[in-house]
Amino acid sequence: MKTIAVLTSGGDAPGMNAAIRAVVRTACENGIKVYGVIRGYNGLINGDFIEMDLRSVSDIINRGGTILYSARSVEFATEEGMRKAIRTCQEWGIEGVVVIGGDGSFRGARDLSERGIPCVGIPGTIDNDIACCDYTIGYDTCLNTIMELVDRLRDTSESHDRCSVIEVMGRRAGYLALNAGIACGATSILIPEVSFDIEKHVIERMQKTQRTDKKHFIIIVAEGCGVNIEDLADEIEKKTGVETRPTILGHTQRGGYPTVKDRVMATRMGNYAVKLLMNNIGNRVVASKKEDVIDYDIFDALNMSKSIDMELYDIAHEVSI
Ligand code: ATP
Repeated sequence: MKTIAVLTSGGDAPGMNAAIRAVVRTACENGIKVYGVIRGYNGLINGDFIEMDLRSVSDIINRGGTILYSARSVEFATEEGMRKAIRTCQEWGIEGVVVIGGDGSFRGARDLSERGIPCVGIPGTIDNDIACCDYTIGYDTCLNTIMELVDRLRDTSESHDRCSVIEVMGRRAGYLALNAGIACGATSILIPEVSFDIEKHVIERMQKTQRTDKKHFIIIVAEGCGVNIEDLADEIEKKTGVETRPTILGHTQRGGYPTVKDRVMATRMGNYAVKLLMNNIGNRVVASKKEDVIDYDIFDALNMSKSIDMELYDIAHEVSI
């Protein structure tokens, strides 16, 4: 391939910039022209491209967000939008596309691949909810951000004998909630993968620890649980007598400078993706398994499933009491 494009799509994740940098630098060093696509698939439809060189990605390895901007493109998910994107790629001589995003973005990449534009996906999402990957870019930074924010809430909860009910991101997956909950010593962790009963999993656990003289509490709730945390806070306060405050961490979880792990993984994956395209290998997803970077067929990758580590879930409940 002589010309490729790189885009970021779906929710932004810290480390996306490090991946863009690795893609651009690897391409440039190997004599491949590389376009940065602005605002995900919308940019691919509209030909919103910038030709990138070694210096266009200077000073971004440390930055959260994405210099290429991101979008959720409704138009691209239609047949007409997809056709326009393919036409644009052909007009610009784009022979392959690196798509950095979550599994929705990979579905778009799969559809493009199927229609003759080879794509390679790089997992970039804070949720860690891509089935073929142990780990996705942005997850480690987000976990550390949540830990820091919850630690701050703990200081004030402890000082006032309060309970903090904290909603963290994770529309479909509880990886963030479970791991952050363990790291922050949460008394209860509610995740979408495990059915729960508020009375048993929150109130009774709190009451049990109250009998051992515990006076302040952290309850972590993944947003995908469908629990209104204001109502939950009211219920806790009523049933346990502990003053309870709800906090939704919201978009603060997305930003910030990426951790070492995210920068290194993003760099390895970006480099790997371009090497695949250089060898005319498309229709793939780059993935991490243990500490290795590997790749899968994009169709197979989207048909995989992964489940929450129940052993970890059980440990959390045994220890945080
Ligand atoms: P995150 O995990 O952060 O939500 P994501 O990549 O899963 O990231 P989505 O909003 O699901 O985010 O998808 C991003 C974009 O990918 C969509 O806006 C759409 O343009 C495209 N896309 C999603 N699903 C499909 C599909 N089935 N076919 C074609 N394109 C799709």
